[in-house]
Amino acid sequence: MFGISLLLVFVLTKLYHISAACVNICSPSWTRFEPIFCEKEKAQINRARKRSDKISSKPLIYPYVKSKVVIMGKITTLSEIEKEVKPNTATLVGGGFDLFHVGHLRYLKKSSNFGRPLVVVIQSDKVVFVRKGFGRPIIGEKQRARLVSAIEYVDYVLILDKPSHYDEYLKKIKPKRLIFYKENLIYRMRRAKEIKKIFPHIQVIFVKDKKIISTSSITEKIMRSVNFDKITDRITKKLHELASRSTSNAGKISSILVRNGQIIEEAMNDKNDRHAESLILESIKKNKISVNDCELYVLIPPCLMCSELLIKSPLKKIYYLYPYGNDDGLKLLRKNSVVVKRYK
Ligand SMILES: [Zn+2]
Repeated sequence: MFGISLLLVFVLTKLYHISAACVNICSPSWTRFEPIFCEKEKAQINRARKRSDKISSKPLIYPYVKSKVVIMGKITTLSEIEKEVKPNTATLVGGGFDLFHVGHLRYLKKSSNFGRPLVVVIQSDKVVFVRKGFGRPIIGEKQRARLVSAIEYVDYVLILDKPSHYDEYLKKIKPKRLIFYKENLIYRMRRAKEIKKIFPHIQVIFVKDKKIISTSSITEKIMRSVNFDKITDRITKKLHELASRSTSNAGKISSILVRNGQIIEEAMNDKNDRHAESLILESIKKNKISVNDCELYVLIPPCLMCSELLIKSPLKKIYYLYPYGNDDGLKLLRKNSVVVKRYK
C-alpha cells in the first residue's frame, strides 16, 4: 500500500513539472523580448505564413514583430511602427484608397501574399487632392484608413501627411519590399529607380490586375449616370429625369400622362412615399383633364394599390419602362381590360 502511494506521489509530481514547463513556454509575455515559440505557436505561424488569407482577426503572434502580441490592422504612427516592426520584414503599399473598391482589395491581397506584415500608407486628403484633382478625395483620410484597417491581411495603416515624406517613411519603416500597382507606369518606373538608388535593399515589385478598376472610372460612371442627355427617347428621358428628382426614400418612381405624343401631366413619388400614379390621378381629377385619348407611362408596372385606383379611372393604356418582378398590379389591370405593355 505504501509502495503504491509513493508511486502515485511520484507520478503526480512529474505531471505537475511537465504542465508547469508547458505553461511557462506557452503563456504570452507582454514584454518586448524576442519571442520564444512553443510547438503550438510555431504551427500557428506556419499556417499563417502559408495561408495569409485565412488569418483570423484575433490577436496573433508573429515572428516578424518585436513585440510579441499584435492586434491586426491597426491605424498607427511612424514611431510606433519603428518600435514594433523588425527592419527588412514588412511589405509596404501606398495609395489613396478613395471610394474603396474591389481593385483595391485585390491589390492589397496580392501585396500581402509577398509577405507580412503588410503596412499600408494612405495618402492624406491634401495628397489625394493634388494627385487626383478637384472634388477628390470623396472619402476623408480617417475613414479611408479605417476601411483599409478592417481588412484581415492588413497589419498596419498609416496616413501619409506629405508626398515628400514618402522617403522618410521608407527610411523609418525599412520595408523588405515595396509593391507598386501597374498604372501610371512612367511615373512609377521613375520612382522605382529613385527608390532603388536611395534604398538598394528594398525590392520594388510591380503587380497588375486582370481588370483595371479605378476610383476615377467609378466617379466618371457616377457623372454619366446623372447625365440624361445621352437618352435619345423623349419619354424614357423624361421618366428618368422625374424619378431622379423624387424625394421619396422608398422608391424613385415617376409617371407621365401623354396625349398625341405631348406630355400633359407628370408626377413622381413624393417625400411622404405617395406613389407617382396615384398623384397623377389626383391632379387629373383636380385639373379636370380629359384622359380618354391619353396614355400613362410609368417607370415600373403600377403596384396593387395604384392599380386599384387606375381601374376606376378612364385610363385604358399603360406603358411601363422596366419589369419589376411583382406583377400583382399588372394582372389586376389586365383582368379589368386595361392594356398594359412594356415600353421599348
Ligand atoms: Zn403604387
